[in-house]
Amino acid sequence: MRISDPQIVARLTKLAVELQPGISLADQTSLGIGGTADLLRIKKHESIPHLMKLLDSNHIPHKFLGGGSNLLVGDGELPWVMLQLVGPEPDVVLEGNLAHVDAAADLGRTVTFCAKNDLGGMEGLIGVPGTVGGALRMNAGAYGMQIGSYVREVKLYRAAERKIEFLRGHQISFEYRHTSFAPDDMMLSVTLELPSKPFKEILQGIRICNEKRRASQPLGQKSAGCIFKNPAGASAGRMIDELGLKGHAVGDAQVSDRHANFFVNAGKASAKDMLALIADVRGRVQKAFGVELENEVVVWNA
Ligand SMILES: Cc1cc2nc3c(=O)[nH]c(=O)nc-3n(C[C@H](O)[C@H](O)[C@H](O)COP(=O)(O)OP(=O)(O)OC[C@H]3O[C@@H](n4cnc5c(N)ncnc54)[C@H](O)[C@@H]3O)c2cc1C
Repeated sequence: MRISDPQIVARLTKLAVELQPGISLADQTSLGIGGTADLLRIKKHESIPHLMKLLDSNHIPHKFLGGGSNLLVGDGELPWVMLQLVGPEPDVVLEGNLAHVDAAADLGRTVTFCAKNDLGGMEGLIGVPGTVGGALRMNAGAYGMQIGSYVREVKLYRAAERKIEFLRGHQISFEYRHTSFAPDDMMLSVTLELPSKPFKEILQGIRICNEKRRASQPLGQKSAGCIFKNPAGASAGRMIDELGLKGHAVGDAQVSDRHANFFVNAGKASAKDMLALIADVRGRVQKAFGVELENEVVVWNA
């Protein structure tokens, strides 16, 4: 979606929203797949209700883009504008055991910054790319932990009320890669309450998680992490592996030969290739195991 009306462009400037016309989503996503759209970079939280009103009244559909590490975006001209937050400096402020973090902050950098200040708990999130906002929305987690467990309060734009609000942690349900936020809610910042731990101890935990990732994931390749959620009591990767599908490909979209639930862009894969591979693998797992795999990757395909 392109914004060309000069009046809308002028209004965006007044709202401190930077318009980057026709960016490639292939350059913004860890899979390296996706067509083009205008990107709106939001510099002030306060301008969001006005921006949403402007977009709604001009019938401009939008999507929220974090770090693009859990996205499979369609090919060609996309029918949405992308909204992305620009974080303040500093984007993490500590107050005792509380970390006040902007949603645009890099997740890995946040974990490390907290660790250096003797705040732990998030060791498992090291190696999870993307932003804190994306991690909140997805309830990112690994190695037995999830970010939702540490959320004390979230500042968000609530689409239904058309305003910025605060939710306490207990008002939000955080489940396996699922949260109770409404689809159009936008995460703006979060207060995490983290346990005190000596840096050395946290570092040891981080090293163990890094080792596990290096040993099992195709870290040098373009991917979006796990494609499918694990069904209750089972492993999607194990089922795919048991079917001998490691290396199985549609065009340049390929089941990783290191981790069967990671699908990689081994060259110039299109969204069409990746979607065909996902459908093919899902069909084979359904036929062999009677299990319908659910996407963990978020698909934006018109
Ligand atoms: C190599 C690799 C390893 C990974 N390992 C893990 C893992 O161990 N555990 C895990 O949970 N995930 C993992 N992932 C997936 C991914 O990194 C996480 O889901 C991450 O938290 C997504 O954050 P993001 O900022 O990149 O979000 P994006 O990919 O940009 O967006 C994901 C979803 O969040 C929404 N979103 C983003 N920002 C906001 C916002 N501010 N407000 C509202 N909605 C928003 C988007 O609209 C979209 O629906 C991995 C990915 C890769 C590439």
